Amino acid sequence: MEILSGLNQTEIEKITDELKASKFRARQIHNWIYLKSVSSIDEMTDLSVKFREELKQVAVVTDIKIKTKQVSSDGTIKYLLEFSDGECVETVLMRFDNRANLTACVSSQVGCAVNCSFCATGKRGFIRNLSYKEIIEQVLTIQRDTGLKVTNVVFMGQGEPLLNLDNVLKAMEIFNEDFQIGARRLTVSTSGIIPQINKLADFNMQSTLAISLHAPNHNIRRQIMKIEDKYNMEELKKALKNYVNKTGRRITIEYLLIKDVNDSVENAKELAYYLNDIKCNINLIPYNPTEQNDYKRPSNNSVMKFKYLLEHSGKKVTVRLERGADIDAACGQLKGKVC
Ligand code: SAH
Ligand code: SF4
Repeated sequence: MEILSGLNQTEIEKITDELKASKFRARQIHNWIYLKSVSSIDEMTDLSVKFREELKQVAVVTDIKIKTKQVSSDGTIKYLLEFSDGECVETVLMRFDNRANLTACVSSQVGCAVNCSFCATGKRGFIRNLSYKEIIEQVLTIQRDTGLKVTNVVFMGQGEPLLNLDNVLKAMEIFNEDFQIGARRLTVSTSGIIPQINKLADFNMQSTLAISLHAPNHNIRRQIMKIEDKYNMEELKKALKNYVNKTGRRITIEYLLIKDVNDSVENAKELAYYLNDIKCNINLIPYNPTEQNDYKRPSNNSVMKFKYLLEHSGKKVTVRLERGADIDAACGQLKGKVC
């Protein structure tokens, strides 16, 4: 059985050719999959009943299962999705008040090998990469379930996207071409895998690169992110400058604020100094509690003070709104509970 979700126009044409149908039929199927996001071939109502029956003999829309779905009081929806081999990942849909945007936060791997000390995903270790089809299926599932069209995709779910770069790039191409989501509405977040950042720079993508920096210096970073021992902040800085030079794009720096670990006045000044010559915006993320560690979230007051000090350096600074914390859907809380 062919699975239609994830196929491009040419691949769908191979199926319609075999069924001796026209390329126009392939175009119709493509629209039903990506723009109207139907769950079954029977819903493709501009195809004749006879042709739908023939198509059903050789293809299905999807084989992904929604294991659980939780809706937060702020409207955020978290799905636990199951793939054909029984592995599961979480996908989150976020809506922001007063904005038409619908943002899907997708996973790129089952588990994660980077194992940052503050993150629930890393605690499971690395299980496997997702295929590009499994990545785009997450957005299709949201669209099928809600009947809404996703406008933005962030690779901020489970996994390190740059350690699954080929599938992530292919998925981004499909988001762009088949879903018609503009490149600037796609964001890839990474813990800082330097060789892959350089590779991305050579692609000259117009999407947004977000870096999970989370520390103002080497010593603090290596305490909370083991990856710092492999790819340190000084080398990372060179890669970021190279990225900006090649793409002309402004980078997003993500900075997790953990009480008494990296949130002092001194830390803010040191961070501003490090970022001084990098073209970037800064996104502060107050720590969201997870079961596995003793870290604490700083008070709103100290978050605002940190923000103010950074703004003083001339950078644009935002504080990430906490979404879906009541259903463990906020940043760092996704663990892909074993089915
Ligand atoms: N692996 C990539 C993509 C995941 S993005 C990366 O790390 O960038 C998820 C974001 O949430 C990252 O910035 C991550 O550092 C952050 N995060 C992880 N644990 C968190 C927690 N407990 N509270 C808030 N943010 C967290
Ligand atoms: Fe992996 Fe990102 Fe979590 Fe670190 S923060 S363990 S890189 S998913």
